[in-house]
Amino acid sequence: MNSERLSNRLEAVASFVNKGAVVADIGSDHAYLPCFLIHTGKVRKAVAGEVAKGPYESAVKNVLREGLSEVITIRLADGLFAIEESDAVDTVTIAGMGGPLIATILDRGKERLAHINRIITQPNIYARAIREWAVVNGWKVADERILKEDGKLYEIIVLEKGQSAYGELELMAGPILLDSKTDVFYEKWENEMVEWKRVLDSLEKASETDAIKTKKAQLKSHIDLVGKVLAT
Ligand code: SAM
Repeated sequence: MNSERLSNRLEAVASFVNKGAVVADIGSDHAYLPCFLIHTGKVRKAVAGEVAKGPYESAVKNVLREGLSEVITIRLADGLFAIEESDAVDTVTIAGMGGPLIATILDRGKERLAHINRIITQPNIYARAIREWAVVNGWKVADERILKEDGKLYEIIVLEKGQSAYGELELMAGPILLDSKTDVFYEKWENEMVEWKRVLDSLEKASETDAIKTKKAQLKSHIDLVGKVLAT
């Protein structure tokens, strides 16, 4: 992967950026995504934020090598604190982290989202945390995609401002993904079902505590809900 040839995963994230947007890519690592967005003419200006020194230095080196220092500002900062008002950022991308970490980054930097109209996230696990954060904080799921690359399944969740309310199944599997169930969607949830049944099976053999009882009830409810979706 480099800034001209992205992974399919990051290319899918890039596809949700509106032309002419001003993007802040949080947890940018090598800054491949902002460089790609500039090279393809989709955006003219971007911010790359990184909390760790090593990846920050990789971003600086890469942006310099690509001759993009004038149009990509790289900041060593925690989460959304990489964004300054004068940047006029309107779109945030956060990719390649767990859903709970992405939700924490959004929550901690909430005040930096005042002028943001689109948040594009790509959680590696537990995407639900992002949908839950959206409901509580006045955002709604505007688009979603699920894809497979190198044997791994990835979800992309795009948020826009607006009130939302999702049921248990929508929080778990995604309101838009549920509307357009693809082969990859079925594969993800068939895998989850196998894992849930395996865990439930081993819990059935354990002596029952309150915690085990709660976990078993939760697993049974998930198996029931998702089982119905997979049957359609
Ligand atoms: N976004 C790139 C991608 O999708 O390929 C890089 C993903 S990499 C696995 C995650 C990056 O997020 C790391 O470079 C890490 O240092 C950075 N990161 C983690 N927590 C962060 C935070 N609170 N603020 C900024 N960057 C963070």
